[in-house]
Amino acid sequence: MATKRKHVLILGGNFAGLGAAQKIRDHAGTDIDITLIDRKAYLDYIPNIPLEMFEGRDPATTMHMNLIGPLARDGVAFRQAEVVGLDIDARKVLVRPNERPGAVEFAIPYDYLVIALGARLAYDEIEGFAEFGHSVSDAFLANRLIDYLRNDYRGGPIAVGSARFTQGSRGRPPWLKTALAACEGPPVEVSLALAHWLHANSKGSARNITIFTPAPMIAEDAGEKVVAQLLAAASGMGFGYLNNTQGIRRLTSKGIDFLDGRTLEAELKIVFPNWRPHSFLRGLPISDEVGFIVTDLHMRNPDHPEILACGDAAAVTVPKLGAIGHQQADIVGRQIAKDLGKISADKADAPFKPVVVCIGDMGGGKAFYIRADSWFGGETQVLRMGRIPYLQKIAYKEVFFRAGGRVPDWGLPVAEWVSESASK
Ligand SMILES: Cc1cc2nc3c(=O)[nH]c(=O)nc-3n(C[C@H](O)[C@H](O)[C@H](O)COP(=O)(O)OP(=O)(O)OC[C@H]3O[C@@H](n4cnc5c(N)ncnc54)[C@H](O)[C@@H]3O)c2cc1C
Repeated sequence: MATKRKHVLILGGNFAGLGAAQKIRDHAGTDIDITLIDRKAYLDYIPNIPLEMFEGRDPATTMHMNLIGPLARDGVAFRQAEVVGLDIDARKVLVRPNERPGAVEFAIPYDYLVIALGARLAYDEIEGFAEFGHSVSDAFLANRLIDYLRNDYRGGPIAVGSARFTQGSRGRPPWLKTALAACEGPPVEVSLALAHWLHANSKGSARNITIFTPAPMIAEDAGEKVVAQLLAAASGMGFGYLNNTQGIRRLTSKGIDFLDGRTLEAELKIVFPNWRPHSFLRGLPISDEVGFIVTDLHMRNPDHPEILACGDAAAVTVPKLGAIGHQQADIVGRQIAKDLGKISADKADAPFKPVVVCIGDMGGGKAFYIRADSWFGGETQVLRMGRIPYLQKIAYKEVFFRAGGRVPDWGLPVAEWVSESASK
């Protein structure tokens, strides 16, 4: 009697979910059914949204990549629906189709579940954000910000920084430190690119901008040496810097009140919120106390090895970086392929070893490139600034879109090699 084909259900179709689908197909071959569920049928290329905005393009028209075509080419079924709950004992996921309102909920069974749902960016927890806040994490917010800068900005002080991140501790590996901000590449990038934009549009300069962080040091996961170099360059350009704010108490018309009691005067408040897990993941036996999915370093839940997680939804993903989700998606593919007998344990079981890789726009055709693992106990701390990292940032997105997310494995190493050797 033929054995029933296994079914992998992937929740989420942005960087981590799409990457996991492709890596499962690559490593496990065609003897497995893969279904991916997302509430939207496109991939949102979030890291380049600020760059697109500052260069005068609408990220809604340039940063959305059709998801269904690339998935279909790999024989991955796409279902557009809102994920509303998990029944772990019954091995089913509860979804509500969302192409038309009025849909009912369905339960979809799985043999393997890959949770790649990212996190919710909790602007709704910041008092005063709707009236006084700005950000750039999606096309709506980016367009709102650039409209303000073009039409309403009065040349006053600008504050750019992060709210406090709430990280869980259950199942955390001993080497993973507590981060006070979820992802601080974006505030650094936005500050640098904004300073260039203000100057180019005769509206100000770096002197208008103060960068703030809840932590003792901004972007601490990039390594002390790298941050010291970045801060020296930033203070030479005239940026203000405020650390140890502990978090945001509220935004007002006048500025930002911080949890440490200080206030920063600001006409424009550009903030990055807490990265909160989705509420339906909280309280599950596979989640930590905040709601992120607990995994071992093979990206499997220790109590439910049929459940894997990658990207921002995984507890071990700190900082919340797409590049880290990319590393984890490959591990997910190898683990499932190993179970199916498609690859050997020695090819599948290399544990997750995070590396921060970040290329941030600086405006004027320049970018910074960071590769570091020192925050995780390694030795690497590389920072490059100039035109080559900028070209890498543009080229990586181009290759990603043209190849339907199939960035060749050599993509990251070539980016490293070019950035690290050519722009010294
Ligand atoms: C402004 C900015 C700049 C950044 N720059 C960089 C950078 O330069 N480099 C870098 O590595 N990282 C960067 N990041 C971080 C990066 O964007 C995230 O780490 C990455 O998007 C995480 O990918 P993910 O697939 O895990 O989650 P997400 O990108 O959040 O995707 C989750 C997916 O799940 C879907 N989903 C969520 N909930 C549901 C539900 N209930 N039902 C159905 N579908 C659902 C969503 O629609 C989405 O498609 C940046 C972030 C921001 C905000």
